[in-house]
Amino acid sequence: MIELLFLLLPVAAAYGYVMGKNSAKNQAHEYSRKITSEYSKGLKFLLDREEDQGLEHLIQLLEVSADSVEHYLTLASLFRKRGEIDRAIKIHELLLNQPNLDERIMSDCRLELAQDYIMAGLLDSAEEHLIILVKSNNTQALEPIINLYSQMSEWQKGVNMFEAHSDLFSKRSHCAAIANFYCETALSSQTPKLMEKTFALNHKTIRPMYELGLDAYKNEDYVKSIYYWRKLICSFTDTAPIYMEQLEHSYNALNLQSQFYELISELLPKGGMLIKIKHCQSLLELNKANEAIEFLTDSLKREPSIRGFSYLLKLLSSKNHKLQDVLHEIDHLVTSYINTKPEYQCRHCGFTSHKLYWLCPSCKHWETIRPNKGVDGF
Ligand SMILES: [Zn+2]
Repeated sequence: MIELLFLLLPVAAAYGYVMGKNSAKNQAHEYSRKITSEYSKGLKFLLDREEDQGLEHLIQLLEVSADSVEHYLTLASLFRKRGEIDRAIKIHELLLNQPNLDERIMSDCRLELAQDYIMAGLLDSAEEHLIILVKSNNTQALEPIINLYSQMSEWQKGVNMFEAHSDLFSKRSHCAAIANFYCETALSSQTPKLMEKTFALNHKTIRPMYELGLDAYKNEDYVKSIYYWRKLICSFTDTAPIYMEQLEHSYNALNLQSQFYELISELLPKGGMLIKIKHCQSLLELNKANEAIEFLTDSLKREPSIRGFSYLLKLLSSKNHKLQDVLHEIDHLVTSYINTKPEYQCRHCGFTSHKLYWLCPSCKHWETIRPNKGVDGF
């Protein structure tokens, strides 16, 4: 505690300066005497390890020295870092009760207090303060309240907040969160149409398009599944491994295989080994096995990929009957290796998984987990 006292020295210095300038005024002298006395009392309590009383005395100085709020915020932040959340809460609550603070400082204190409540597990109290901030158009409150609703699985509350203050949501990460709130609400109430509302968001998002495609696919409405997934694959080509097989099946069910390969051909410049493998398949359909082998070998030289190598082994074994058993055995080993590698990775924190999560279990960001890229990826 004693090492924190240095934070309070500028309060005394600033006060002395201000009071020195107005030394002609008796009233100021009286204030000075009062503050010096309160300040000394506060320090004495702190030195005597009577921290609660010490803090209360020092907080009283704020009545005449609003400039020192920053020091108190720093002090509270240090308490929070040390895990002394109750003390941080005490300082922020006392600051918030000061009648002379301006609106911006009040908002900063309220935001800090909400963070304290979240850390203390007092989520309802945190929500209360964050809602006040959002209602006053404070965009800094969006991140914590989105995280709070994600943590509490309060999807409908998140949707309601968005619909009342949609003009505040301009960041991609916020739009991704809201899109997923709509998806969770739509899936639990079995009203997939609700997800279409996300198309008006300021940023394109992934999951609504995927879920709408999946819903259509399950209902064998392949025209619709192609409609949604085609849009998705063109905007976010790296998501292709999540639904590629169902997308191909949708085209095949409508006897539109050539259109599927046309789409693959369009996507080739955007890269990704899975797209290249599908392109090889289209060449095989045209009896162009040698061209497929040449294309894949060339791609692998420029962009090594275990999955690409495995597919090349399959192509080679179908062409070379003498080496078929050996190639098959090597491919078996390569496939075993691939199966040990996680299919998904968070672009934000690096968390890896064999399963797709829309909300990263590690960093709690929405839609940051994508199919893996690179040598072991797709
Ligand atoms: Zn993450």
